Amino acid sequence: MKRVVQILLVLLLVFSAASCGEKLYTPGSYEGAAPGIHGKDVIVEVTVDEKEIKEIRILQNEETPGLSDAAFERIPKAIIDGQTLAVDTVAGATYTSKAIIAAVTEALAAAGADIAALSEGKAEADVVTAATENLEADVVVIGAGGAGLSAAVSAHQNGATVIILEKMPQVGGNTIISGAAYNAVDPERQEPLGIEDSIEKHFTQTYEGGDKLGEPVLIRTLVENALPTLHWMESLGMEFRDEVFTVLGGLWPRAHKPVKPLGTGYIETLMAYIEDNKDRILLLTDTRATDLYKRDGRVIAVQATGPDSTILAQGKKAVIIATGGFGNDVEKREKYNEIWPSLKNIKSTNHPGATGDGLALAEMVGADLIGLEQIQLLPMGDPNTGSLAGNIEQGVENRIFVNKDGKRFVDEGARRDVMTNALFEQEDSFMWIVLDSNNYPTMDTKNNFNETIGELVEQGRAYMADSLEELAGKIDVDPENLKAAVAEFNQAVETGGPDRFGRTLFDKKIDTPPYYAGARTPTVHHTMGGIKINESAQVIDTEGKVIPGLYAAGETTGGIHGANRLGGNALPDIHVFGRIAGANAAAE
Ligand code: ADP
Repeated sequence: MKRVVQILLVLLLVFSAASCGEKLYTPGSYEGAAPGIHGKDVIVEVTVDEKEIKEIRILQNEETPGLSDAAFERIPKAIIDGQTLAVDTVAGATYTSKAIIAAVTEALAAAGADIAALSEGKAEADVVTAATENLEADVVVIGAGGAGLSAAVSAHQNGATVIILEKMPQVGGNTIISGAAYNAVDPERQEPLGIEDSIEKHFTQTYEGGDKLGEPVLIRTLVENALPTLHWMESLGMEFRDEVFTVLGGLWPRAHKPVKPLGTGYIETLMAYIEDNKDRILLLTDTRATDLYKRDGRVIAVQATGPDSTILAQGKKAVIIATGGFGNDVEKREKYNEIWPSLKNIKSTNHPGATGDGLALAEMVGADLIGLEQIQLLPMGDPNTGSLAGNIEQGVENRIFVNKDGKRFVDEGARRDVMTNALFEQEDSFMWIVLDSNNYPTMDTKNNFNETIGELVEQGRAYMADSLEELAGKIDVDPENLKAAVAEFNQAVETGGPDRFGRTLFDKKIDTPPYYAGARTPTVHHTMGGIKINESAQVIDTEGKVIPGLYAAGETTGGIHGANRLGGNALPDIHVFGRIAGANAAAE
């Protein structure tokens, strides 16, 4: 018995000696790299012998001095002390911590380590992340729609490092789902089509179309910079079609249409630039700005809630608010609406993030908010969703609207508020857009929302018929009324109007079958009021003074569109002022 125990003990000793001698690494020094906070690699050198991680040296880092120091001190030490990769990240420097761990992991993998064994318990370690993450850049942009991304690109082009905070999991905001029409006086595209236009006309139509409530100096900035900013977008790779058109409520054929569907062209173009320059532009999605901080009267930082930490993003030069409008915030609509019947049950064209967060942020630091009662509705919502998708109109000139009786009721080339008000007066606030195959030469022809007329008909979202009579039957309106409405319209096309509604925008008759109809109702589209800015996109306080270090651009601002925004003026607005805000913020 004693012998057996002795033999077992010897065997045990032999085994444990063998496991002590197990080779964990191939001895030597190994490099590893992983992107840090600004996208630039953190490079480490890890020295190992057969059994231990001996030394970790940081060969290269461009992390934020001061804020990242603790991570460089603690993470390598924690890895060596514990001989593990399952170490906690350092509060306030999560990104740098993760970069160091990832770089060391890469080096150890090259040394032949069992990474899974070394990382055991890592998931738990990741959960215990920082209470507050400190980040820093020259310019912090809140919101990654058209205005915010333009601001970020322009700030970078002017030499700044940038942090963009976006609360949604994806970028694009309302911009990416918009109809995307961009108004600019553009002789190169308009003259070949025989369209007369001028900056002065664009100014006057914008000013008067907004009931003279817009700030003339902001409108001038908009109309004068619309074309240069369109060229700037083109210089970044954006493509527009050669033809211009009149967009709903645009009053004049100066709307440019991107080659790519909806607003995807703008966002993809700006994002491609940001991707190419990610060493100096940090984009954080799922990160909602909640507070602004001021020091000595100057806005210096943004607090935000990220996916796994609170973030304090310091803007050494400036902060730019580009959070969009509040069209999807029913409470705010109810609070500010003075003009429309209750908007509580009206749907919206907006993305879910359009909740006006920028207003509260700006108010926190004393900004003046103006024109919040100016809420734009369109007569163009899908009756089920409020979305613009499914809209069959191609341009203003070649379609009419009829109510449930099959009768026209408004100048279909009028201002958006005029058309929507008229629609509210119709039975069930409901109308049909009626047009013919001049707009859709084939079933594969697409509307402005990347949908073919064939699929809309198939899905029951549009109706098609070979005669007006048959169409009337399908949409359940009086056939005589519908025929009379079209006949009257066709007559006005011949004379050029104005017709009895005052309509002057005509092109082709509605006379080529098949005919199409699509249903539409009022929908909340754009909030024209917001943060008061000057022509440099600086935010103005309630005493009329500039708030140092704070800029705003896009739908979150007020003072440009007055009581009614012209169709096609939002895209130049957000990009013109985004670009100005970015350049000026970088120059602070
Ligand atoms: P604009 O046309 O003015 O650029 P968009 O609606 O296209 O407006 O974009 C605004 C963006 O701002 C959206 O992507 C939205 O999710 C984002 N946003 C709104 N509120 C916040 C917030 N509190 N923090 C970060 N991003 C926000």
